[in-house]
Amino acid sequence: MDHTFDTIIEPFRIKSVEPIRMTTVAEREAFLKEAHYNLFLIKAENILIDLLTDSGTGAMSAAQWGKMMEGDESYAGCRSYYDMYDSVHDLTKFKHIFPTHQGRAAERILFGLVGSEGKIIPNNTHFDTTRANIEFTKTEALDLVIEEGKDPASLHPFKGNMDLEKLEQLMESQHKNIPLCMLTVTNNSGGGQPVSMENIRETHKICKKYDIPLFLDACRFAENAYFIKLREPGYENTSVKKIVQEMFSYVDGATMSSKKDALVNIGGFLAFNDDELAVNVQNMGILTEGYPTYGGLAGRDLAAMAQGLKEVVEEDYLEYRIKSTQYFGEALDKAGIPVMKPIGGHAVYIDAKAMLPHIPVSQLPAQALACELYRVGGIRGVEIGSLMFGKRDPETGEEIPGTMELLRLAIPRRVYTQSHIDYCIEVLDLVNQNKENIKGLKITKQPPFLRHFSAELAPA
Ligand SMILES: *Cc1c(COP(=O)(O)O)cnc(C)c1O
Repeated sequence: MDHTFDTIIEPFRIKSVEPIRMTTVAEREAFLKEAHYNLFLIKAENILIDLLTDSGTGAMSAAQWGKMMEGDESYAGCRSYYDMYDSVHDLTKFKHIFPTHQGRAAERILFGLVGSEGKIIPNNTHFDTTRANIEFTKTEALDLVIEEGKDPASLHPFKGNMDLEKLEQLMESQHKNIPLCMLTVTNNSGGGQPVSMENIRETHKICKKYDIPLFLDACRFAENAYFIKLREPGYENTSVKKIVQEMFSYVDGATMSSKKDALVNIGGFLAFNDDELAVNVQNMGILTEGYPTYGGLAGRDLAAMAQGLKEVVEEDYLEYRIKSTQYFGEALDKAGIPVMKPIGGHAVYIDAKAMLPHIPVSQLPAQALACELYRVGGIRGVEIGSLMFGKRDPETGEEIPGTMELLRLAIPRRVYTQSHIDYCIEVLDLVNQNKENIKGLKITKQPPFLRHFSAELAPA
């Protein structure tokens, strides 16, 4: 048998480089002050390692750049659309495939057609844009993830699973009001946790019994499939592509943000089998996305997507992808930093409330940690806590906190090497050793909604 080595080998070599700029602590302190302690307001050129998001931030392959040059920019019936159709069809077998400019456009079209007041759409956990687009149609967006999925300490291998008992109960009493059911793979809002094949199959059976279509929010379908291969008995020797095909065989459609597992910087799609729905989606899509064979994208974007969907199911890539996220999370765990476990597919989440007990929730511990990480090492993460999900009561002016205080460090696809990650581990270790000196923050100015993007803060 071949020897297995501990070092993670990036399964690519680097053909084109993009410099990242070193800055000093003093410079970064000035940038932080200028940006009012909001990392969204810092210029990207002043960031050394950017772990803000894994969405649209990946690196394309030489093959994808080559395909972009060949993109067909015809208004109708472009070849790049048919290449993209073939790639999506190969994995999903769906009959109707509509490109969109990104995932939320697919969501808006779908829910605009099936949602209305009094209806309910269940999911393991709705992602923010999914929930917003459902609620915009006055439909209820219901989260039914298993209890283990809500417990940061649980080591369940598939914490993204749907609670089947709760789903069955809901269907029994409400199936007339459920236009469709969703499953998000991997469960982004629940920490990037996977859904098992068994759970997809059982969710399908319940939906079938009540004649409700099941859709995947498929953004990270390949990462989910790789977790099935690693963790679900019976799939050890099945290829990831076969696992992906089986996942899609249990569902009637999918919404997709190609900025994740299609390895492109922009794009998405809506795909399904229903002929009647296709007529309506085509009509609605034309209003905002454009003619159905380009759907808000350039032909070259479709060409890059067609190629990205082939590369994302390559197992060397997925091994590197999942292993490097685990490596990062496990190193932080070993350094005594409280991380959410098991480590998910696309990001590591630090529990700032546990790490910084001296900072009250009202002083935004996860945002304070995000700023310190930038100050010490030029690394940008994103607060998922009371700055993002808390609110100020418009009448009393009192702060209503969010449910958790997390700092998410999302890993862009194929962008950083093991030494970049080792650097991040070193910085975090130093920050952790001096954590008593980290001070809380207060909000000094905020917009009425989505405040985390533009709020201004100051040391408390
Ligand atoms: C990113 C994401 C979306 C939305 O996609 P965009 O391309 O950002 O519009 C929807 N669902 C999940 C699970 C996501 O991660």
